[in-house]
Amino acid sequence: MTEKTCNTCETDSCTTKDQKPEERSEEVMDRQALQSRMSKIKNKILVISGKGGVGKSTVAANMAISLGLAGKRVGLLDVDIHGPSIPKLLHLEDRTLTATEEVIIPIALSDNLKVVSLGLILRGKDDAVIWRGPMKMGVIKQFLKDVEWGELDYLIIDLPPGTGDEPLSVCQLIEKADGAVVVTTPQEVALADVRKSINFCHALKLPVLGVVENMSGFICPKCNEITEIFKSGGGERMAEDMKVPFLGRIPLDPQIVEACDSGRPYVYHYARTETAKAFERVIRPILEMNESNTTESNTTTHNTANPKTEDLKEKEEKSLRIAIPIAAGRLAMHFGHCEEFALIDVDPDKKEILNKEMVAAPEHQPGLLPRWLAERGAQVIIAGGMGQRALNLFSENNIKVQIGAPAEPPEAIVKSYLNGTLKTGENICDH
Ligand code: ADP
Repeated sequence: MTEKTCNTCETDSCTTKDQKPEERSEEVMDRQALQSRMSKIKNKILVISGKGGVGKSTVAANMAISLGLAGKRVGLLDVDIHGPSIPKLLHLEDRTLTATEEVIIPIALSDNLKVVSLGLILRGKDDAVIWRGPMKMGVIKQFLKDVEWGELDYLIIDLPPGTGDEPLSVCQLIEKADGAVVVTTPQEVALADVRKSINFCHALKLPVLGVVENMSGFICPKCNEITEIFKSGGGERMAEDMKVPFLGRIPLDPQIVEACDSGRPYVYHYARTETAKAFERVIRPILEMNESNTTESNTTTHNTANPKTEDLKEKEEKSLRIAIPIAAGRLAMHFGHCEEFALIDVDPDKKEILNKEMVAAPEHQPGLLPRWLAERGAQVIIAGGMGQRALNLFSENNIKVQIGAPAEPPEAIVKSYLNGTLKTGENICDH
């Protein structure tokens, strides 16, 4: 049932005042509780990866610990549904979370580092697999809303891997994260996936704080010499190509596995090693971005955006994402039944293509495409023809539509669109 919205009430605590259409009063209260909780956290940083096993959780945990060692107040939230490994990494498997009726108390690892993990409420290690989607999101939402972090400089959030529905739903729950750190390994396969992660951030207007290349070279435990096993440096080149910062390389270090398996946070115990120095380099720009916030006041409750994040946001706002329906490598005339979409990021000022990604079209369902494309960050659609209903839905989603384009390869269409020479004919949709 939809509640009636009241516009006259002056009471701040009144939930209906802030109610959105179609939102129930419990939902308004949940949203307000989440916003209030998040407003005490200066920087919310997501740690993401294109696929599992690249060391995302290891990087998230060691980043949190390094930031804590640097004197910041840090929370580490593990919502990796597929394999919440933070309890294992930090040797917290036997600990349980305490909760009152209103709040969940995080585990304090030190005075300024608190931890909460989905793994701490799953009994068996395979429990998460049997959870249905809404159930998982319900628990994650409760974590975000109810964990009593107090005031934090950073909340580091270890997300599920990939760019599918699960990380997407978590990002949507968090709403205004300050940025993402993308973890990759140097191999080409991982690099292809990480491009998707960067595009995923672009689509969500989430600033990419940088790329970390993990397992980059092998560090000999005896002589500390680094040997390149896979060709390293690919993460740095890819970051440069995609115009996002590169945060640094973490070598493949047997001591990390040993430290993790025995639950000893690596950077605590090996602070003088090359690997710990690499972690320090990774967090340096993240510390700098917070400098102005932290020195301002220790009790500030606003989530003031910092200059570096603003720069990144500005840079990302300059790019424009164009979606084109494709069949057999060319623009598909039959928009609703195309095989795939080309998602092309462009710099409209320089009239340059920045990146192209091909995404399989979802199964045909009337009315789905406008929302599906909006979720993937499309701002312009170039199509041959399109029915009136789809045109209306795109307009509701603030997506500009250019119809009557010819069946040409997507890059050629985008170039002529940017140069203002795209030849368009009639809307030839017969639906
Ligand atoms: P993800 O979160 O991406 O699935 P994890 O952080 O759980 O990956 O790491 C997977 C495994 O790789 C763990 O056993 C971890 O100890 C190991 N690992 C991660 N990074 C390194 C590294 N730099 N050197 C050695 N082992 C690593």
